[in-house]
Amino acid sequence: MNKGGLRRRLLLSHMSVALCSLLFIMLLVNLVMTISFGKYVENQRKAEAGFLLEDLKASYNATDSWPMDTLMTISHQAMQRNYSVSIYDAEGNVVWDTGRMGMGRSMHSTGTEMASRYPIIKDGLSLGTLEMQGNGDAMTLQNRNFLQMFNRLSWGALILVLAGAYLYSRFIAVGLSRPLVQIKKIAVRMREGDLGERVILPRKQTEIEEVGLALNYLADTLEQQEKLRKNLTADVAHELRTPLATIQSHIEAFQDGIWAATPDKLQVCHNQVMRLVQLVNDLEKLSSAENPMIQLKQEELCLNEVIQDAIHTVAGRLDKKNNSIVFHEPETLYLTGDYERLLQVFVNLLNNAYKFTQEGLIEVRISEDLSGVNVTITDTGTGISPDEIPFIFERFYRGDKSRNRKTGGAGIGLAIVKAIVEAHGGEIKVRSVLNEGSEFNIHFPK
Ligand code: ADP
Repeated sequence: MNKGGLRRRLLLSHMSVALCSLLFIMLLVNLVMTISFGKYVENQRKAEAGFLLEDLKASYNATDSWPMDTLMTISHQAMQRNYSVSIYDAEGNVVWDTGRMGMGRSMHSTGTEMASRYPIIKDGLSLGTLEMQGNGDAMTLQNRNFLQMFNRLSWGALILVLAGAYLYSRFIAVGLSRPLVQIKKIAVRMREGDLGERVILPRKQTEIEEVGLALNYLADTLEQQEKLRKNLTADVAHELRTPLATIQSHIEAFQDGIWAATPDKLQVCHNQVMRLVQLVNDLEKLSSAENPMIQLKQEELCLNEVIQDAIHTVAGRLDKKNNSIVFHEPETLYLTGDYERLLQVFVNLLNNAYKFTQEGLIEVRISEDLSGVNVTITDTGTGISPDEIPFIFERFYRGDKSRNRKTGGAGIGLAIVKAIVEAHGGEIKVRSVLNEGSEFNIHFPK
């Protein structure tokens, strides 16, 4: 498995997500800082102005307006915080100006920032105006410094995140590829014909483990099919052997002059040939009923008519025995399906009922419910023992009583019935009591 491919893809996707997110955050922070830093500085300035106004109001006296020490303190503060202050009296004359004194401006200042003016009002009386002007360069310098530091830290974080993404994608890739490698190993074994191995699944199941589960299921099915195929070959060989051996021994006896080809001896050969013909016909019907590629005809059929036709076919074909078929048809029911194949279903079931009932009654009932139509075929024959019931629908399965019969079928009849019923979306069930009789129930959905 190309482990590197998975790792490379994961690495690429993790790294691109980390890179995009960090770049986006950097862009956003730079943008927000540029917009809001100015606002922040202005608010600071307002708060500063508030304190200065308080000082100016408190220290004002009518004789010499503001004392020198107050003005010096204000100048000192302005210088420290990098802005200039001008104070005007009520008439608009300059009382104090730190800018003109060369204080409060940095060496590189060009004073690009707008000045803010605040009236000095005490007890409703205007004492003058306070004018503050920030050092624009200082502000942008601070802002720039902050952003530079932030960007430098972000690049550092980016390197750390990329290293983390590399390690993480390696870790994830190993975790992901381990079960995939196991699944691939089992798939290769299956391709080579070893269907015995299964993927070991942890309790916590992700989509990858579900693939493993599907592979296990596939292996189960293939193994089952393989077993069926082998059984089928063995069964067909077994079915062919007896009639062929009989025919062979008869012909050899004729050739050696041991037996004369009398009509009764030829009849024996003919019976065996007919048995082979019947077997081939049955196998053909079974394979076509089981073949999902063969399309069933979808005709609107009268169920009563199909059953009546089946009863005529069976009654005409079998020896007259002391039993009779009764069809209870309280209503006329319809269903969609393939006439020929449905006829085959009822012929096979009635044939069996007839075959395994020496003397008695065979009854057919039809009914309808919300989910579909039901057909029940009941006989009062030999019945089926409980340990045989699970196998009667399998190919080539014959109960002991059928096996002992000279002209019994090959055990394909019910396999055909089941395949046809299921091809119509239906279901067949059986209930039986040994020596009392059997009941086959078929349900066709609407
Ligand atoms: P076949 O009739 O050729 O033996 P089927 O597939 O039709 O093969 O039936 C399989 C087996 O099921 C039969 O051998 C028989 O043992 C049993 N069986 C089927 N139908 C009945 C029935 N109506 N009464 C008793 N046994 C039955």
